[in-house]
Amino acid sequence: MRAVLSTGSNIGDARAHLRSVVDAFAGHVVAASSIYATAPWGGVEQPDFLNQVLLIDVPCSPHELLARCQRLEREARRVRDVRWGPRTLDVDIISIDGVTSADPELTLPHPRARERAFVLIPWLEVEPDAALEGEAVAGIVEKLGAQGVRRL
Ligand code: ATP
Ligand code: CA
Ligand code: CA
Repeated sequence: MRAVLSTGSNIGDARAHLRSVVDAFAGHVVAASSIYATAPWGGVEQPDFLNQVLLIDVPCSPHELLARCQRLEREARRVRDVRWGPRTLDVDIISIDGVTSADPELTLPHPRARERAFVLIPWLEVEPDAALEGEAVAGIVEKLGAQGVRRL
């Protein structure tokens, strides 16, 4: 199974936080996008983010993958206070091939991915013909605009 992960950081050594995810999935990373600088999404005033998208071969069940992602957030000492606020590391599962889920614990595809250029633009870089719920990601991005997402 193939999964699309979106990683983000805007506290501390953001590049190192993103790299920690690539390293953790070493051997399973099929493609890693460039790193993008992105304006914060969701209305909280905070520093810009660095974001990246990884395509990985899922080495485990979807819930085990979520647990691994959350372990990496804990290892980066992520603190949750403000929703959509600053964080050392966020690792979201955007989609897993062939899996849909309405479980709030793990919703697939990620329910807000289609509103987020910081997810879709890096995803397109590594998978130009990507689709989200049957719709071409390229077309979704065209409608959304770049939302301050720039490739570094
Ligand atoms: P957003 O979900 O809008 O990107 P966020 O990443 O800041 O916001 P978190 O606090 O990181 O939100 O996660 C809240 C919960 O979302 C997690 O406890 C997790 O169980 C749940 N969740 C549901 N679907 C997913 C998914 N596809 N990937 C990651 N977490 C998910
Ligand atoms: Ca997120
Ligand atoms: Ca998250």
